[in-house]
Amino acid sequence: MEFAEFAARAEEIAEEPGDLATTERVRDLLADASEDLPVVVRFLQGRVYPAWDATTLDIGPALLHEAIARAAGPNVDSDDVESKLAEVGEIGAVAATYEFGGQRGLGAFGGGAADGSGERGGGLTVAAVDDRLREIATTTGEGSEGRRLDALFGLFNRASQTEAKFLARLVLGEMRIGVGGGTVRDATAAAFVDEGVAGERGETPSEAPGGDESEATPDSDAVDAVERALQVSNDYGMVARVAREEGREGLDAVGLEVGRPVQAMLAQAGSATEAIEEWGEAVVETKFDGARVQVHFDGEETALFSRNMDDVTDPLPEVVEFVERAVDVPVVLDGEVVAVDDYGSPLPFQEVLRRFRRKYDVERMREEVRVELRAFDCLHVDGDDLLDAPLSERHDRLRALLGDTDAVSEPVVSDDPDEIAAVEERALEAGHEGIMLKEPESTYAPGKRGRNWLKRKPDVETLDLVVTGAEWGEGRRANLFGTFLLSARVDGEAAGRDATATDGDAAADSDAYATIGKVATGITDEELEALTERLEPHIEREDGQTVSIAPEVVFEVGYEEIQASPTYESGYALRFPRYVTVREDKSPVDADGLARVERLVDEQ
Ligand code: ATP
Repeated sequence: MEFAEFAARAEEIAEEPGDLATTERVRDLLADASEDLPVVVRFLQGRVYPAWDATTLDIGPALLHEAIARAAGPNVDSDDVESKLAEVGEIGAVAATYEFGGQRGLGAFGGGAADGSGERGGGLTVAAVDDRLREIATTTGEGSEGRRLDALFGLFNRASQTEAKFLARLVLGEMRIGVGGGTVRDATAAAFVDEGVAGERGETPSEAPGGDESEATPDSDAVDAVERALQVSNDYGMVARVAREEGREGLDAVGLEVGRPVQAMLAQAGSATEAIEEWGEAVVETKFDGARVQVHFDGEETALFSRNMDDVTDPLPEVVEFVERAVDVPVVLDGEVVAVDDYGSPLPFQEVLRRFRRKYDVERMREEVRVELRAFDCLHVDGDDLLDAPLSERHDRLRALLGDTDAVSEPVVSDDPDEIAAVEERALEAGHEGIMLKEPESTYAPGKRGRNWLKRKPDVETLDLVVTGAEWGEGRRANLFGTFLLSARVDGEAAGRDATATDGDAAADSDAYATIGKVATGITDEELEALTERLEPHIEREDGQTVSIAPEVVFEVGYEEIQASPTYESGYALRFPRYVTVREDKSPVDADGLARVERLVDEQ
């Protein structure tokens, strides 16, 4: 597919206000994508690599602005690009204001755009853009910055205005066309899985009962099949290809692969009484106060993934060493990495998160914070996939693998609320966060926040919110942010489909956030400095003292109460908000959504 066609269709999708019509347009684009389908699917979501792959393009705004300026001609420099950006607020729109294609050097092809728009363009294809961006991502070493710039310039130099708009956005990972994971999932189901829909399409759509609606809404079985494959693989491109080529059977056969993380199974809040009422008896485990980690050992090498599937192998060498000492067959384990003191007692989870910060010296941090693995689930052992095995069996396999050590949770099965209360008391006394209650016969449901795992923790509630703005400080702190604007995720269409099961899953549409409050207390000067340094590159717009910031960082915040308030977009405000920490283990899609805010308000 020509990149110009992709860009033109992305533009149409962006302009489409209706959700159903958007899904329909995406569906048609997928159906037309031929051999480029996986790339088109990823590009639609602003990705070059699948979600499970930790490779990043690592192209910062400075390099991007420079490449755009160079392709825009001798009269434009990065300062011009940046001042336009301050005015317009978004790099895609800025890129679309220039005329490219006239510059000498790499890739100066000129010629008309393939979309027939009359815009200048150089016949870029989706596959060529993908190849070139992947080359840029893997160009390292001496002189690499120059070569990366040349390559990026080469792409812009061949781009029409619409192509440049989406190229710039793709480079920064955000397409801004209102297409999140939920839309791609539904479009994939409608294009390739739902036979009723596929059969109807193209021939007599207007005669179909319900018109457009029946066309764009695939049946829920088809959607579920696509969703399950996504939760196991985290690869929208591959899943779309399998759906097209092998249909539902192929999707059902998408299995776990050692080295490719599955989405973590999540918990809801719940009590022992509820658990016993629902299941008869419950598996009770310590709720460790650390960070989620998924361990993949392929028989030779270990890879560790965080809750949002970032590769955290390098920051956690002790866990890698432990795994490689303890097992000699391929395994996938789910667990928590906890910080412990010299006596092996748990430390607060903020200590663990210090290990996930980007810039630090692993060896020094290793001396400062000691971490250990607490495995509580086992998804694969030596060729046996255990996702569909009952929890009791997965626990047995885990114990057989790691033995009776601190590294394995000690599940207790009980149907007695008093006994469960005693387990909880012991867990809290030992410094853990609380307990988990699990359905003994339940399978492992990747990405689901269902009723089979319940968590109980007595701590006051906190919210995990996305920073979407900030205000500069005053006086001696004028060059630091002092106040941070916080937003909750607007639970997307996936949440609407089944609020309980998909709350927080990665298929929820990810690009909408609603403000809910500001936080300025509880942050030390040192933290303000680190936060300013971290957030400044993500500023989207400045207006006097106030800046808006692209969603990147998640804060955990405490509060006294949530109140209804017209001040913020969410319709709620936090009373006495207090900064707790940066949730290094969460990305904006994992932040709390409005559905949870509303539940908390109801419980108040
Ligand atoms: P929280 O902020 O409460 O950790 P979360 O959104 O990160 O919540 P939930 O699924 O709501 O995740 O709560 C369960 C979390 O508790 C898991 O993600 C995991 O990190 C942690 N945990 C600690 N011990 C266990 C355990 N034994 N079994 C399952 N999860 C555990």
